[in-house]
Amino acid sequence: MEIVDFLFKNAIVLTMDEEMRQFEPGAVAVKQDHIVAVGAETDILQKFTSDHIIDCNLKVLMPGLINAHTHVPMTLLRGLADDLRLDVWLMGYIMPVEREFVSPDFVNLGTKLACAEMICSGVTCFADMYYFEEHVAQTTVEAGMRALCAQTVMKFPTPDAQSFEDSLAATRDFIQKWKGNSLIIPAVAPHAPYTCTAEILRATSALAVEFDVPLHTHLAETANEVEIMRNEQGMPVIPYVKKQNLFDAKVLAAHCVHIDVGEIHTLQHAGAGVAHNPSSNLKLASGAAPVKRMLELGLNVGIGTDGPASNNDLDMFEEIRLAAFLSKNTSGDPTALPAKTALLMATRMGAQAMHMSHLTGSIQPGKFADLIILDVSPIHNSPRFKRDPNGIYAQIVYASKSTDVTDVMINGKWVMRDRQLLTLNETELLKFSQEYARKIDIFLFQREKSVLSKLIAIGGTTEEESFEIQAKVPIQEIEPVLARLESLTKPSSLQKPEIEIIRTRHYRQYDTYFIFDGSEEGCIRYREDHFINEKDEITTVRSRLTLIGPSRERNYPQGVLLSRSRYLAPATQSLRFYREYFKPSHEVEIEKDRLRYLVRYHNIEFFINIDSVSKPNLGHFLEIKSRTWSQKDAEIKSRLTTDLIELLGADPAKTISEDYLEMIREK
Ligand SMILES: [Zn+2]
Repeated sequence: MEIVDFLFKNAIVLTMDEEMRQFEPGAVAVKQDHIVAVGAETDILQKFTSDHIIDCNLKVLMPGLINAHTHVPMTLLRGLADDLRLDVWLMGYIMPVEREFVSPDFVNLGTKLACAEMICSGVTCFADMYYFEEHVAQTTVEAGMRALCAQTVMKFPTPDAQSFEDSLAATRDFIQKWKGNSLIIPAVAPHAPYTCTAEILRATSALAVEFDVPLHTHLAETANEVEIMRNEQGMPVIPYVKKQNLFDAKVLAAHCVHIDVGEIHTLQHAGAGVAHNPSSNLKLASGAAPVKRMLELGLNVGIGTDGPASNNDLDMFEEIRLAAFLSKNTSGDPTALPAKTALLMATRMGAQAMHMSHLTGSIQPGKFADLIILDVSPIHNSPRFKRDPNGIYAQIVYASKSTDVTDVMINGKWVMRDRQLLTLNETELLKFSQEYARKIDIFLFQREKSVLSKLIAIGGTTEEESFEIQAKVPIQEIEPVLARLESLTKPSSLQKPEIEIIRTRHYRQYDTYFIFDGSEEGCIRYREDHFINEKDEITTVRSRLTLIGPSRERNYPQGVLLSRSRYLAPATQSLRFYREYFKPSHEVEIEKDRLRYLVRYHNIEFFINIDSVSKPNLGHFLEIKSRTWSQKDAEIKSRLTTDLIELLGADPAKTISEDYLEMIREK
């Protein structure tokens, strides 16, 4: 008789191995950190004995569940912002809060909270991607869990790195330090093609190859991502990342919602694994991954919860059930993704997708002892039929709850016994995480109060205070003004031209003003300039976001001195994004065709704008503008402005001070 450390008996053993063997009653022998034998109880008890014999009372004994994609420290951001689009949620809330709060302390606490939740729900191994990943790894080891820990790299500054070179260097150190650890597989995580440059994708792939570690990333999550990739690179996401040598590495790709059959083949040939995240995809309305097709074509697909800020929990039982339901629903085929396959995806196939199936994912001799005991006899899961051997999988997938997990062993060590956590202090975790929620609430509350701080939160602004003389005169037609301008700029034999043109521009301006009721901060203008060439074609499009402070006016004989603060930011997101993020009380749209001349008149530079405002139809305007620095300067410029209006054949007496927005307001 061989003596082992633990002997499990009287269990419904689901091995989840290649033959999907089941034993009832079955037994499993564990020595140190690994499984030494599994089989029918009578066979195993003849060969092995132990001081620790565990009678499973005909509960299910199966491999621990594998969460193939998550961001564990984000447990601390659970419920922070919900019911938003992915870009608004990510760029408008999650990333700004992360920039402010994510630290080693945050990561340690968030990871502990996540490990507690996962252990309680039968998860023994997970694939993570976050910042300060060495702290995720350290805390995971302390909690006694197994994980693939991938350090995030992206093109923006992150909470743990100022540049991508810094985070790449930190990732190299992290991998070197953790490679060979029995619980942690270190890895690199280029966040996504849209948050990384081609150079980052190439560099991270090379790093993963150099150390033979997995590469964890997000691919083709939304239709929008694929559309932008097609527009910018002329191909969808999978061929693009292949071109950047991403598949030289052992890839674990989360989502892959919007990929076609050709792309599935590419992933399969590359040996890449996919993490399917049904809750996250459903909640963010990203679509449904073609899981049925992926499995038919031999791809390894695991199941993940994604981060708890987009789920909002780490419950794999719910995720497995949703994966099955979603696949049936989208394929219109109730036989699609049967319970047995769904559970396989959350165990052995998940480990395969993570390139860790030699370590865990099934009950087989030689693999680590990552085991859970699950009660399949509570009131919501009774009675039990035994006719169909697949019935037990259906029972687990369609009726079991995470709270039915009673005991969890990882790496041959107990981490939960009879629903009591052994490595983590639940009371302490709840107290500390509530403290973070309080701090983040205060931060967001302050931010929401001010349009300016909301603008700053999404990525920096430059401030400028502007003082300018501005005069606007309605005109009937623009041609006579243009003719005048031309004649004034022509040199004659006798003298220099009166007005010298420095630069000419022609563009159409599309302005959307976000107006905020009761705000004294002014309004946000989203401006798109479409530059037009001589052939009347659009050459370039530029988008800008400006917070325009309320103007302080001072009247001069003609023309008005306007002063106001402006905060400028390049508009990198869509108009829709800003609308949903700033939530204005109402909006005003203005469209105009603008001929803009920068001229020199009496050695002073002026802008002459000849505008045709088409939306709303306000007609044509001649506008003269110049920056000014002092009162004396303002007086001189105001006088010259009057002269210019006259020279161009308009009537200075008709000068108005309002801008287009005010004209619309007054209507
Ligand atoms: Zn994710």
